[in-house]
Amino acid sequence: MLPKYIQNPKIKNALLAFCSRKYTLFSSPMAATEECLRKTLTEKVAAVEAQGNAVRALKAGGAAKSEIDSAIETLNSLKLEKAAAERSLLGGSDSREAFRQAVVNTLERRLFYIPSFKIYRGVAGLFDYGPPGCAVKSNVLAFWRQHFVLEENMLEVDCPCVTPEIVLKASGHVDKFTDLMVKDVKSGTCYRADHLLKDFCNDKLQRDLALPADKVAELKHVLATLDDLSAEELGAKIKEYGIVAPETKNALSEPYPFNLMFQTSIGPSGLSPGFMRPETAQGIFVNFKDLYYYNGNKLPFAAAQIGQAFRNEISPRQGLLRVREFTLAEIEHFVDPQDKSHPKYPEVADLQFLMFPREEQMSGQSAKVVRLRDAVSKGIVNNETLGYFIGRVYLFLTSLGIDKDRLRFRQHLANEMAHYAADCWDAEIECSYGWIECVGIADRSAYDLRAHSDKSGVPLVAHEKFSEPKEVEKLVITPVKKELGLAFKGNQRMVVEALEAMPEKEALDMKAALESKGEVEFQVCTLGKNVTIKKNMVTIQKEKKKEHQRVFTPSVIEPSFGIGRIIYCLFEHTFYTRPSKAGDEQLNVFRFPSLIAPIKCTVFPLVQNQKYEEVAKQISKSLTAVGISHKIDTTGTSIGKRYARTDELGVPFAVTVDSTSSVTIRERDSKDQVRVDVDKAASVIREVTDGQRTWEDVWSTFPHHSSASADD
Ligand code: ATP
Repeated sequence: MLPKYIQNPKIKNALLAFCSRKYTLFSSPMAATEECLRKTLTEKVAAVEAQGNAVRALKAGGAAKSEIDSAIETLNSLKLEKAAAERSLLGGSDSREAFRQAVVNTLERRLFYIPSFKIYRGVAGLFDYGPPGCAVKSNVLAFWRQHFVLEENMLEVDCPCVTPEIVLKASGHVDKFTDLMVKDVKSGTCYRADHLLKDFCNDKLQRDLALPADKVAELKHVLATLDDLSAEELGAKIKEYGIVAPETKNALSEPYPFNLMFQTSIGPSGLSPGFMRPETAQGIFVNFKDLYYYNGNKLPFAAAQIGQAFRNEISPRQGLLRVREFTLAEIEHFVDPQDKSHPKYPEVADLQFLMFPREEQMSGQSAKVVRLRDAVSKGIVNNETLGYFIGRVYLFLTSLGIDKDRLRFRQHLANEMAHYAADCWDAEIECSYGWIECVGIADRSAYDLRAHSDKSGVPLVAHEKFSEPKEVEKLVITPVKKELGLAFKGNQRMVVEALEAMPEKEALDMKAALESKGEVEFQVCTLGKNVTIKKNMVTIQKEKKKEHQRVFTPSVIEPSFGIGRIIYCLFEHTFYTRPSKAGDEQLNVFRFPSLIAPIKCTVFPLVQNQKYEEVAKQISKSLTAVGISHKIDTTGTSIGKRYARTDELGVPFAVTVDSTSSVTIRERDSKDQVRVDVDKAASVIREVTDGQRTWEDVWSTFPHHSSASADD
């Protein structure tokens, strides 16, 4: 359903008008549309070919001239259609660039964000938020706290960015948080190897219109399996496709892993290595024991954290989308692995939105609108809690102003998922750069808590107390340390650990083998080899025990939000241009919902005049008293220009003082104005900005005002 204020026919028409204007101005067919255009082009190429053959056949068969002429006429019109399809396909990326330039120019000119350290020529991948950008960011974060932390009673924490090595060793980041890098062999410039291959494939698919179907399929396959390629395979593909350094066209080195963490040392001795955290999640995991206790030793519960994360990205491009320091907002929802239901799941189960399950991706289909309940009940989404968060993320992003038609939930392919993950979905938002992962929602099973339990020796577990003791039959593995010590000397500990860690089935197989053969080959991963276990080295037997509780490692479901990426997509989704009244220029507007608008309202005296300025100050005071961010503009500039200035900052309402008893309130997108008494102005603005009242309601309550200004 349309938001209420859009149901007002006047506003709806205005919205529709500028939406269509936006698309004709920037005609930004995005990836999905591109697929469509490519399909059309393929059909046209085939039709031209078929018609060409038909003409040749007619000529060869000595057909009548009129028949040949008519076939040639059809061929010519098909050729025209093919040329048009080619133009649309090529035009897509150019108009996307133009659209992006218009947005980014506005953002930088109005100080939403700017490259950091600009007077020193900046540093790639580092950006400053200026005043309006800062305000948008703080509004997004405030809404995030309200929508998630408050709604679910989450436990918010705030942990340091500087993290000792041992924590990130346990989590796997020290060894595995790498991207594959290649170097320009002459200039030494570094590139992310998979990005070069991805750009090559995308570019070829977009620009090489004569690409045969099998080549299209091959390139698409490479794109789908990019995350799966080893350094050697990636290197081989780069060679096979003749990919060179983009700027210099020099040859590239073989790909090799580069760890993305910024390293530092803690304290003056330099002996205690540390890293700037690459995610905020680890701070939550290491505090699990205390948080669980704080929560009354009850599951499920969620902890949350907002904070800076640092990744030394190899070649950051794409503005705010890939930076070296960014704000993450992360939730770790701890749940019993045997019960992943969620009490509030029914509240989101009937939401319908674009989902892109693994199967559809593999079979070359596109994302489809799916009811969340169906995806969960069919097992496409692994469990209710994961489904619940997918639904909540959808509501969060669309409330911010993300266009629901350019938002999809894409399931990770098997090759993208860590081996321990049960299921992962990315909220991807389509912008001029294509579909961008903005929120990752993953069921990470018990991996993180187990890893920190093992490394720290502190059990990070939960307990389920039984109302009465339960008799359970347990398989008990008891390594005979003396015998193992004699046989394996210094390796004894690793063999003991491996025996104790055996899954039940493997232990039962070993028991049977020892009983029948007296010895068995056993793989010890930490030793990297097999050892021979004899009958006297281990006892394996089932024992009956009374248990008062179940002790288990909770699973964690993690929605992880890249705030900068969401904000950038929001900028693109809310930006449009409209002609000035005189029609001589295009004016920029950000259609921010009040929720995230950097300033909710501007107050203008219509003309420079002391009485009007007094009234403006009085309204400003009342707005401050009710907590509404606003700005007074007393410059003598024409009212139309002042409206245009605030439209460009996405300010939703403007109060213009044109008398001492009443003022006008103007809504940004419809440019409609109503007249309201001076003493009511602040409360009307408050009600309409905090969502208590719709603009439609204001419009139908107060007298309408027609702009006197020539500019607006
Ligand atoms: P990518 O594959 O794009 O590098 P990722 O899969 O490594 O991202 P995660 O580790 O899942 O990303 O990080 C969680 C979120 O953090 C992402 O969904 C994204 O929104 C954000 N994010 C990750 N890297 C960056 C970055 N360099 N700049 C801005 N945001 C980022």
